[in-house]
This record gives sequence, C-alpha cells and structure tokens, in this order.
Amino acid sequence: MKVPLLDLRPPLEELHDEIVKAVTQVIDSTCYIMGPEIDGLEKEISAYCGTNDAVGVSSGTDALLLALMVLDVGPGDLVLTSDFSFFATAGVIARLNSTPVFVDIDPQTFNIDPESLRNTLTEMDAQTRKRVKAIIPVHLYGQCADMEAILNISREYNIPVIEDGAQAIGAECELDGQKKRAGSTGDFGCFSFFPSKNLGGVGDGGIVTVNNPEIAEQLRLKRVHGGERKYYHRVIGGNFRLDPIQAAVIRVKLPHLNEWHKQRQENAEHYNKLFVEKDLLGKVQLPFIAHPQNLQNAHIFNQYVIKAERRDELKSYLAENEIASEVYYPRPFHLQECFLHLGGKIGDFPVAEAVTTEVLALPIYPGMTKEMRETVVEQIANFY
Ligand SMILES: *Cc1c(COP(=O)(O)O)cnc(C)c1O
Repeated sequence: MKVPLLDLRPPLEELHDEIVKAVTQVIDSTCYIMGPEIDGLEKEISAYCGTNDAVGVSSGTDALLLALMVLDVGPGDLVLTSDFSFFATAGVIARLNSTPVFVDIDPQTFNIDPESLRNTLTEMDAQTRKRVKAIIPVHLYGQCADMEAILNISREYNIPVIEDGAQAIGAECELDGQKKRAGSTGDFGCFSFFPSKNLGGVGDGGIVTVNNPEIAEQLRLKRVHGGERKYYHRVIGGNFRLDPIQAAVIRVKLPHLNEWHKQRQENAEHYNKLFVEKDLLGKVQLPFIAHPQNLQNAHIFNQYVIKAERRDELKSYLAENEIASEVYYPRPFHLQECFLHLGGKIGDFPVAEAVTTEVLALPIYPGMTKEMRETVVEQIANFY
C-alpha cells in the first residue's frame, strides 16, 4: 500500500462545493483587494485564537516579517529564536539586517528551551542585552512552547514576544491556570495558511493575532506600504495583504478546524498504540506532550514526529516500500550555510544538533486510513 505524506483531497472533497461557491462570490464581487472577506476572517480568527484583533497578511513568513517591522527591528538589533525551525523563522530576522541569536531546544518537545533562553540573556553584557528587540518562540509541529516560562523571562527583561504559530493554530497551553490558545499570550501571534498547515488555503496566506489595539494599527499601516492615506507615507511598510480568495476559502474551512485537529489526534493515538503493540519503543521515541492532559488541543499534530534509531536508513527503507516520511529539519540554523558568518560551529547547540539526526515525520493527515497507519508501523517493525 502506498502512503503519501500528505493528501489534501479528503477535507477538500467534504467542502468542495462550498469552497468553489465562496471563491466564485469573490470573483463576481470584483472586490479583489482587502474588503469584507478579510474583515470577516480577521474577526473569526481573533475569536478563535482568543485575541482582541487579527490582521490578515500574505503568508506566515510575512506575518513574522511584519511583526518585526512593527517593532522597528533593524541593523544592530538582535532577535532571539529557536535553533530548530522552518527557515522563515530565522530568515525574516536576517532580511531586516538584524542578527538572529539562536537558542537550544528541549529534547522532548523540540521547542525553545526556556533555561537556555535565560542563560543566553544572562551571559550577555548589559550593552548587548539592550540590543535584543524580540524573542520568537516557535510552536513546533503543533505544540505550544513553554509560554509561562518564556513570558516570565520576557517580562523580566522587557522584551516583546512574537509567537511563531505557523504550525499550531488552535494549539492550547495553560497560563496562570487558564487555557490559552497559540498566538494569544505573546505580543504577536503569527500564523500561516500554507496548504500543508492544519488550516490551509488554496495558496499562500497568513495572519497576525494581536491584543494591543495600537500594535494592530501599526500592523495595518505597514501592511499597505505605511500609507494611512493613499500616496502619503508616514513610515515604510510593504505589500503584505491577504488575498480575499484565500480569506474566503479559510472562512469556509475554519468551522471544521477543531474536527480536523481531532482526527489528527486520533491518528496520533492510533500510531502510539501500534508502536507499543509492535514493541518498538526501544527503537523509536513517540511524540511527547508537555501540556496538561485536560487540554483538548495540547498538541494539534501538524506533524507527528518520532525520534528514530538509524533514521536515514529507516527513511530510505520506507521510501522503497512506498511510504513517505520527511525530516523536519535536517540542519539547525546555526549550521546553515547562510548563517555560518555568525560564527556557529558544531557543538554549540547539542540538543538541536542531535535531533536533526533523529526526527522523522510520518503521515498524519485527516482522512488517511487506519490501514495506512498499520502499514506504516508494520514496515517500521520490518525495518528494525
Ligand atoms: C510554514 C511556516 C512558516 C512560514 O509560513 P509560510 O506561509 O509558508 O510563509 C513559518 N514558520 C514555521 C514554523 C512554519 O512551519
């Protein structure tokens, strides 16, 4: 049996006619830039995430870039972030000619390690620390970083927090005993509607969630070249607008998002059970959920990532047997060619370096069959 890493058809088939109708309405309206679909989506996403506001943008990458631009991050500034994420997280920092400062991760959740974050700050001299303009924790694979610890540090040093929630829309954590969703605890929450995310459009798109109305205003201003009034520019921005066609599609899909999270969680539980049944826990390590059990969406499994012995051999073996898997990500930021000038070397971030050789994402998408998961784990058992 062939098992793809991702198949977007099952959720599409369910909503096909509704999506086509929504797209047709946008086309027939001739309102192709901003307009009611954007306004509607912004209200619905902020309600979903539990924030005061949201600002639709052109992609998850641009959500991060725009947040940094609103903080006026630029040359000479430093931004702290995880050493282990999709490239966009670090790329946006460098694009503004500021310098990313990488921080090692927790070996179980793969998210930024608060203790390393604190150490990074305490080891800086006061002058250097003043240059730190933001912290970007990433909610990797669909599980929130340890926001309670991160926010304690950010408050202590008075540094804004930009949550990279691209893989984690709807993921929950507990803060001061209260349930919170990704994007609602930091100063900015950045999300992506890239088709492979849990809430994906039919192309690129993204959104920034925000609680502070003044920051929301700044985001809206810089989203359209910094022009409050057409052709008069107070500040420099960009074209970071969300396409209304994408907004219309996302609005059709949003009411189904929690159901898709649930399917991913059930798939994950089924995998966990199969790995136990096949007695594979000596060879692979299952995804670890750090947040309290009472949270329905403590992990939304944008990716189901195991740590596997002889990972590369296993991946090739699966590929030979028509089972797709993927390594997110094979190289930590500090060893990426484009960042070598920052002085990173092997050994700097041992946890991130180790996990790049161990992690393997297995198919987890809503609509995959039980037989597919059984085949995946059977083949893994065959390999070992
Ligand atoms: C997908 C992703 C992004 C970028 O989103 P795009 O919409 O593809 O630009 C940023 N950060 C993380 C962690 C991602 O997974």
